[in-house]
Amino acid sequence: MPIHLQIEATRGPARAGKLITPHGEVETPVFMPVGTLGSVKGVSQDVLEELGVEILLGNTYHLYLRPGVETVRKMGGLHRFMSWDRAILTDSGGFQVFSLNDLRKVSEEGVAFRSHLDGSAHFLSPEKAVEIQIGLGADIIMAFDECTEYPAEAQRARDSMELTLRWAERCKSYFEEHKNEVPWGSSQLSSPKDGNSKKGPDGQTQALFGIIQGGMDSDLRRESAERTIDIGFRGYAIGGLSVGEPRELTRDIVELTLEHLPSNQPRYLMGVGTPEEIAHYAQMGVDMMDCVLPTRAARHGLLFTSEGKISIKQARYAQDESALDPACECRVCQRYSRAYLRHLYASNELLAQVLNTIHNLHYYLATMRTVRNWIRAGVPK
Ligand SMILES: [Zn+2]
Repeated sequence: MPIHLQIEATRGPARAGKLITPHGEVETPVFMPVGTLGSVKGVSQDVLEELGVEILLGNTYHLYLRPGVETVRKMGGLHRFMSWDRAILTDSGGFQVFSLNDLRKVSEEGVAFRSHLDGSAHFLSPEKAVEIQIGLGADIIMAFDECTEYPAEAQRARDSMELTLRWAERCKSYFEEHKNEVPWGSSQLSSPKDGNSKKGPDGQTQALFGIIQGGMDSDLRRESAERTIDIGFRGYAIGGLSVGEPRELTRDIVELTLEHLPSNQPRYLMGVGTPEEIAHYAQMGVDMMDCVLPTRAARHGLLFTSEGKISIKQARYAQDESALDPACECRVCQRYSRAYLRHLYASNELLAQVLNTIHNLHYYLATMRTVRNWIRAGVPK
């Protein structure tokens, strides 16, 4: 069976189930921590496993520049390279490249850009983005799209959507021709039929997801959804959001786009949000989300707790003996006081980043667990 979603319960538009991948099952709705360079900054893979992370996100743009796709491919793909047996999703690099503003030039063929590391010149096309993602070997890979900026004129939003649709066709064609080149070796995945198989168990390969664009225009969003579905992907992502628009608008666009997506396939909302937002989107029927917020905020001493956000750097915590979040069951809250965490942060200790990130990730994962239980208390399928 190819990668697919098993829906096991619904509640209103929300669904809970399992995403079946070549590297294990993922309980959905799921929050995917971001491991930009093959690492969730500050947290080792064994701790991620203990936290219950079942799928990680890797960034194609960053991995392409460092260590480079050939290195990762020769090391057996990203799973083996980073010693992570569970599922991985890579983005297409599009969003990062579009964030380079002064360092990029978009054409029909693709995007020319300069590395943020050393200024060297590179080119990403739909074909190249898929080729790199096949080399990295994530379970789920994303079509190369243009993230429409906000605000955008009506014609600009349409032109951008049309470009993304043409690129989606090219991504699909390239993927269909090359999907058996994924670097999963038999030493990592048992393949009873063929010991040298380049595919995962049962002949599984990667899944390519399409991305819906269309700016903040409801008609364009519907058209983008319908035409992307016509091209045909294993799952669909809602892209082009969290680009500076008001939060209510994000919610409106998500809601109306979801109505046009197939109910039996995974729906992925890219790059959102706060714990309240991810819970809300899951209740609206989103299956997968990612965001740098819990990990990035943690490194800046900003912690999400059941009592609201805490800025651990504040002097008021200097002699606070209580746990960071008394309601949290994570290993950090079980062991350390706010006073100690505040001291680590104020002293710029590496451990501050590690512990803060572990707590924030636990908080996000626990939030999604609560939502899944809420949905499962609805209607079993
Ligand atoms: Zn905690």
